[in-house]
Amino acid sequence: MAELRFDGKVVVVTGAGAGLGRAYAHLFASRGAKVVVNDLGGGRHGDGSSSKAADTVVDEIKSKGGTAVADYHSVVDGDKLIKTALDNFGRIDILINNAGILRDKSFARISDQDWDLVHAVHLKGSFKTTQAAFPIMKKQGFGRIVMTASNSGLYGNFGQANYSAAKMGLIGLAKTVAIEGARNNIHCNVIVPTAASRLTEDILPPDVFQALNPEYIAPVVAYMCHDDCEENGSVIEAAAGWAGKCTIIRANGTLLRSPESDNVSIENVKQNWSKITDITNYSLLSSIQEATGALIESLDASGTKE
Ligand code: NAD
Repeated sequence: MAELRFDGKVVVVTGAGAGLGRAYAHLFASRGAKVVVNDLGGGRHGDGSSSKAADTVVDEIKSKGGTAVADYHSVVDGDKLIKTALDNFGRIDILINNAGILRDKSFARISDQDWDLVHAVHLKGSFKTTQAAFPIMKKQGFGRIVMTASNSGLYGNFGQANYSAAKMGLIGLAKTVAIEGARNNIHCNVIVPTAASRLTEDILPPDVFQALNPEYIAPVVAYMCHDDCEENGSVIEAAAGWAGKCTIIRANGTLLRSPESDNVSIENVKQNWSKITDITNYSLLSSIQEATGALIESLDASGTKE
């Protein structure tokens, strides 16, 4: 297969001074893209700032013959880091929303600050960068955006209520941006990574940590951003050299009323609970139209639709 390249493309990677973002920036640059290496350079809990993280990755890329520029803004000022791309390279084609922090606490102990900061960096930051890039991508008829979610969002995780909520929020954001961008060839997908980084060094056992090289995930993210990739609005999980799509299923459920009785009672719900929650048979749903359509079909089939 011919090498998939990104010549002429301008890529912004947020939080690219370390971990996954660094791996993404290196891969895009090695395939011909001009890369904005954004990183605030603070601690893992969102404290402090430094230009060192972004500068180091820019130097590494340049020493390999690649093109990159550093940006030190917080993603909360997303418009400023998109401006860095425009000022230096005149365009923005690909945006990887990757910057992240953790402020883990059990649910009852989460302060307003723990909640707000995590939401600001993950959810608001991705909103700000994407909203600044979107009109430019629309005008040029091409754009690729990746949001970064987490299994903590998909399934919940003890001590991560603030982070889980923000990460699941990013899936909703991505799905709507995907719908609104589709006709202008703007695709927005979500990566759910598991990788060895400073965010996971004290969470993952050492032998597992070794197997979770961020470089295994970078090609999945890069392909989702290539002209050849038609995927839009999808959630792709990747780790340790494996990748697979996550999707939403809905149990076929059961009707709680009938042509004879229009009444739905609490007792009726109790009686049917095992059928409501049985997912042996299910529908795979990929849009709000499919979700509503499937509901109307089952009402039609039962003769209860009015
Ligand atoms: P990391 O800490 O190595 O890298 C994150 C980078 O983001 C850091 O360099 C940090 O300085 C930067 N950053 C933090 N706040 C910023 C801000 N406001 N503006 C700009 N940059 C900022 O962590 P990582 O593991 O590489 O995580 C990357 C992304 O992947 C995060 O969104 C994280 O939540 C997500 N994620 C990681 C894992 C994993 O297993 N590592 C799992 C699920 C999700």
